[in-house]
Amino acid sequence: MAMQTIRADIVIIGSGVGGSAVAHQLAGTGARILILERGDFLPNEPQNSDAEAVFRQARYRTREEWLDAGGARYRPGQYYYVGGHTKFYGTAMFRFRVQDFEATTIDGALSPAWPVGYQDLAPHYAEAERLYGVRGQSGLDPTEPPRAAFPHAAIPHEPTIAALAGRFGAQGLHPFPMPSAVDFGDGGACRRCGTCDAFACRFGAKGDAETRVLRPLLAHPDVRLERRAEVTRLIADERGHRIVAAEVRRDGALLRVEAPLFVLSAGAINSALILLRSACEAAPDGIANRSGVVGRHLMNHHLTGLMAMNPLARNDTKFPKTLSVNDFYDGLPGDSDARGNIQMLGNIQGPMIRTAYPAMPGFLADWLGRHSVDVLAMSEDTPDPDSRVRLLDGDRVEVDYRPGGARAHDRFVRHVKGVLRRVGFPVVLRHGFGIQAPSHQCGTVRMGDDPATSALNALCRAHDHPNLYVVDGGFFPSSAALNPALTIAAQALRVGAHLRGMRATLGHAA
Ligand SMILES: Cc1cc2nc3c(=O)[nH]c(=O)nc-3n(C[C@H](O)[C@H](O)[C@H](O)COP(=O)(O)OP(=O)(O)OC[C@H]3O[C@@H](n4cnc5c(N)ncnc54)[C@H](O)[C@@H]3O)c2cc1C
Repeated sequence: MAMQTIRADIVIIGSGVGGSAVAHQLAGTGARILILERGDFLPNEPQNSDAEAVFRQARYRTREEWLDAGGARYRPGQYYYVGGHTKFYGTAMFRFRVQDFEATTIDGALSPAWPVGYQDLAPHYAEAERLYGVRGQSGLDPTEPPRAAFPHAAIPHEPTIAALAGRFGAQGLHPFPMPSAVDFGDGGACRRCGTCDAFACRFGAKGDAETRVLRPLLAHPDVRLERRAEVTRLIADERGHRIVAAEVRRDGALLRVEAPLFVLSAGAINSALILLRSACEAAPDGIANRSGVVGRHLMNHHLTGLMAMNPLARNDTKFPKTLSVNDFYDGLPGDSDARGNIQMLGNIQGPMIRTAYPAMPGFLADWLGRHSVDVLAMSEDTPDPDSRVRLLDGDRVEVDYRPGGARAHDRFVRHVKGVLRRVGFPVVLRHGFGIQAPSHQCGTVRMGDDPATSALNALCRAHDHPNLYVVDGGFFPSSAALNPALTIAAQALRVGAHLRGMRATLGHAA
């Protein structure tokens, strides 16, 4: 039986931050936009905010299995839904700092420069903040890049977090309201339900890619979303120059989707896998991979959770993610390599703790959850070419992750623990988040000016293919030490604006 063929003017693969931003820019240009998304809409159901269902039963996590470098199988913390990982994200919407786009080193390892600077992204950061409804207050973060006011006022601290901000201030630090994409305030949808970071929102209050960007676009006659449509590979012409089609698996059948322009945004790991799986005679190492970098330089941030305990004080905060500290973003006194961002974690509950420590009795985990103030220490992960995702024997996925800068992060964490003790927490427990939940994955399809060492140019176009763009976190040359989503959105909006301009000058052939 012949394979069904669908045609569009622009095919976007993945409906997360990157894919939806490009669709936002191109909707209304007259182009027929087809978004291919392997997941479905996330059901709105009571389990969305049930820690037992979300963590212990891993209800929403993919059922696929990957291999670690030792060959052990695991079920990764990957979520495939319309809106991508923002359905579960913690709503921290940071701009990277000016210096994050410049080359630096951490304990001797290179963090390379980006082919774009902060000034290139600044207008798109502003647009992304507007789209996602980011709340914050400028002028208080000592590392803040040049910017105008936030679109909405900052979310106020709850009492425990306000007290913590005061105690940080008394230590000479400069705490500031964390920029957050939650529809909170008069007339807002947020009900302070107590579950947000790592949970899906039942009230439409989380500023995720589906709610804020994609849903409004679907009313547009030229924007079509195909759900449960998993792209298995891209198909190039005989010379391996232009991409002519995507092969798609939908409900057990294979489809061929043809278009003059393809935008890949399946997430850093899956985009690399699609490109590698697309190897053909003309591109034997995979599409967009003449440089050999596709799948390499996998980064994920060094993320350490710190549970600051005060047995005498109960913490009833519903939405703790209103506070951040960047005083150590450029280094500790006398140790400029030990550096990073401090921000609050979401509300930690007993079942979440028992997922990491299954032997812990439930009553103890619940007590710890209620008596801790939970902080995330985040440091930059430097790119290592041997840190990679690859396909074994055709289609088994191996993630051989080699974080760069782990020792520097450890020194940073020890310093942060000391700060927390000084502000009133005699016991600080530490837990590292590993690559099994690759929440900040990036770097696997890096951009750069040199086609020998990068897969994409500064506009995320494949050096090897004029009609292929990659706009998820895969394009990051380095990871900075701040949450990635706003930077993915800003660069994808920039790419989308460029494509819109191309269509205007070239007509529908662009
Ligand atoms: C629990 C959690 C908390 C987080 N908190 C924050 C935070 O507070 N702030 C922040 O900035 N970042 C946060 N992040 C990270 C942030 O969510 C991601 O960086 C961001 O969403 C990535 O966007 P993306 O568009 O690159 O990829 P994705 O969100 O992964 O989107 C890719 C899309 O492509 C689809 N797809 C995958 N493979 C295929 C295929 N073969 N065919 C078709 N479709 C495919 C996926 O289903 C998905 O919808 C968090 C992540 C997690 C998991």
